[in-house]
Amino acid sequence: MGLSKKILVIPGDGIGAEVTTWGKAVLEKIAAVYGHTFTYDEALMGHVAIEATGSPLPDETLEKAKASDAILFGAVGHAKYDNDPTAKVRPEQGLLGIRKALGLYANLRPIVLFDELLDASSLKPEILKGTDILFFRETGDVYFGEKKRSDDRNTGSDLMIYHRYEVERIARKAYEAARLRSHRLCSVDKANVLETSRLWREVVQEIAKEYPDVETEHMFVDNAAMQLVKNPKKFDVVLTANLFGDILTDEASQIAGSMGMLASASIGDGTGFFEPIHGSAHDIAGQDKANPLASILSVALMLEISFGLKEEARKITEAIDKTLKAGYRTGDIADSKTEKDKILGTTAMGKKVLEFL
Ligand code: NAD
Repeated sequence: MGLSKKILVIPGDGIGAEVTTWGKAVLEKIAAVYGHTFTYDEALMGHVAIEATGSPLPDETLEKAKASDAILFGAVGHAKYDNDPTAKVRPEQGLLGIRKALGLYANLRPIVLFDELLDASSLKPEILKGTDILFFRETGDVYFGEKKRSDDRNTGSDLMIYHRYEVERIARKAYEAARLRSHRLCSVDKANVLETSRLWREVVQEIAKEYPDVETEHMFVDNAAMQLVKNPKKFDVVLTANLFGDILTDEASQIAGSMGMLASASIGDGTGFFEPIHGSAHDIAGQDKANPLASILSVALMLEISFGLKEEARKITEAIDKTLKAGYRTGDIADSKTEKDKILGTTAMGKKVLEFL
């Protein structure tokens, strides 16, 4: 029997609306094919919300978010704020606010490479081929610790703080995921120097005992940064703190080639939040140039992680693979070998994926 789920779409700013249109279209097709009932609502966030209500995260959006089973998000951001760091009300406050309100303590970023796009990376194809990593990045850490500046303004400090329960809850999520994948987990820290990392490692070692079927490796972050470009296939599930994850996931996204191809999920113990890793891309907004594949991949993540629909998620990835194998590209992933008439805009690319679905 099909599932019944409430999905909130938050397109946000810039190319957000253009790409989420296709994420939603894919959800609709999956629902029709597999007999699921997905109902949709829409809400404002970011610059569009500030313009309409004065707030980047209106109460109505938050209420709708809490009442939904999963959220498909586009992006927030507007040139007006990029050039005015002093602006008090900002689009990204919407994003931070919703993550906090929904208790989204884990950010998941899969790095999956499509064979057809191996040449788009700056790494050699033979090093990359077969790379399939799932990052679990904790979302608290030094970013939210107390920040201070001395009276003479010459000394600054940020408090890096972790509590046992914070490490335990994300570690369990990562181990559960490792069980469904290749039973390998690498926990990344800096336990040779940092006390928070020593706590991190101690807790992960304890949780590891609950998952004897998963092989655990502990790695220092500097080594992990090096291994990612040297031998990315070495990694499967990577579990790490916010600061380390921030840097490692961006490094890993670059080995994948294009921002337009990567999705991420933020999860806690309730509603999950699914989005492309790219921003609102003002430079191409409204021009039918945005690559919708990251939004479509966000939908695949939603189906797998929030609804447990692995088969449907696989179907979406296969449809994208077929689209790429048939030679179709958006401008950001096209290269000199791409046939001119196969370089598509957002709408045509979205339709192609639906055809292959
Ligand atoms: P960006 O990701 O928006 O764009 C970086 C570059 O990649 C641009 O040249 C853009 O055209 C291109 N690009 C991005 N997504 C693409 C897609 N789907 N298809 C084709 N090309 C794509 O990052 P930026 O330029 O640093 O930031 C623009 C705005 O987005 C800023 O206001 C920033 O604050 C915001 N931002 C939001 C998020 C988010 O909402 N999660 C994340 C990052 C940046």
